[in-house]
Amino acid sequence: MTLKFDNKKIRSEFPFLSREINNKPIIYLDSAASSQKPQQVLDKLMLTYSQGYSNIHRGLHTLSEEATEAYEEVRIKISRFINASSKDEIIFTSGATMSINLIANSYGLVNLKSGDEIIITVAEHHANIIPWQILCERTGARIVAVPVDSDGSFHLRELKKRVTKNTKIISVPHVSNVLGTIFPIKEISAIAHENNAICVVDGCQGAIHMPVDIQDIDCDFYVFSGHKLYGPSGIGVCWGRGEILAAMPPFLGGGDMIDDVDIEHATYSDPPSRFEAGTPPIAECIALGSAVDFVEKIGMDNIEKHEKSLLSYGHQRLASVKGLSFVGTSSLKSGVISFTLNSAHPHDISTLIDQDGIAIRAGHHCAQPLMKFLNLTSTARASVAVYSEPEDFDALAISLEKVNRIFGD
Ligand code: PLP
Repeated sequence: MTLKFDNKKIRSEFPFLSREINNKPIIYLDSAASSQKPQQVLDKLMLTYSQGYSNIHRGLHTLSEEATEAYEEVRIKISRFINASSKDEIIFTSGATMSINLIANSYGLVNLKSGDEIIITVAEHHANIIPWQILCERTGARIVAVPVDSDGSFHLRELKKRVTKNTKIISVPHVSNVLGTIFPIKEISAIAHENNAICVVDGCQGAIHMPVDIQDIDCDFYVFSGHKLYGPSGIGVCWGRGEILAAMPPFLGGGDMIDDVDIEHATYSDPPSRFEAGTPPIAECIALGSAVDFVEKIGMDNIEKHEKSLLSYGHQRLASVKGLSFVGTSSLKSGVISFTLNSAHPHDISTLIDQDGIAIRAGHHCAQPLMKFLNLTSTARASVAVYSEPEDFDALAISLEKVNRIFGD
């Protein structure tokens, strides 16, 4: 049961909104990089560290048992959040980057060989490029990249043209962190399976903006980071299909991932603990559970609706700024609006509008191949979250007009 969407009430739950930057109320349009945290997440972090903290999975005392139970409850919560068929398919990692490195180093090293191909798109975050490059260096496999249209749209026909009998992995973003394009991940998964490949989805910019149903998407891995979902940094998720995880070797070795250890040999525990060596970010994971409670109370479908109408207002408002060009105008978009403004460098834009208390991101957004593909060095990017409001874009448009006056274009 979700509540009626009440943006004012939601905003009141985010203490950062009382901050002023350069004597102006903060306008935070950089949530794609990392979102701000609601009070209940901050409270949970504080409460766990002050009253419920201990190492997990090993102590027999009360605190350890409580912490273990709270940590494992989050696994159940996350599995419900993305509709996984079992909590044991949820592996806690430090974030999306580590999740993809885990897949590349464990699944990839065992299953790929020289001549095999990994298909990605030109619109990847470096986190969905570099782990595959390292894997290719080690195995002799190669990367094939699917282009996007000039407006940022993705076409399945471009993917189909590049799939061969050598394709072993297709790894795509759910949503591009630069273009905002929503990728047809269900159809991409089907194409992967028709060709005996697996489908990995970088859900970093997806799970934060819309409901995710893993069983419906039918991909093989889906990864995301807690810090973009109103949770703490240092904790993320790698969901993997049960039978694939069961056949994968460990990526990191150490405590908590073993059954029996001799000096020269060890046997490993079943997933997910096989992939969770060492002490995890315990309180951060428990607080991520509160972040999931927070978004579920509002309803991911309500968040999606709110952000969609915000994005549409943002496009309309920013279109009135002279000399502004959007980068990424696909009809299926979520979360971000990237743009350039006349001859102003995005770094200058960001620095100048910071004077008005406005935070946006400027640069290559960890997507250099996409920048090169688009013949750009950088863009400015405004991104929204549940606490964003239309007035944020009014302020941004007014501030960008000032930038225009400074640059005299
Ligand atoms: N993938 C995408 C699409 C992202 O936007 C990001 C972060 O910006 C990442 C991967 C990497 O996430 P993290 O740095 O949390 O591991």
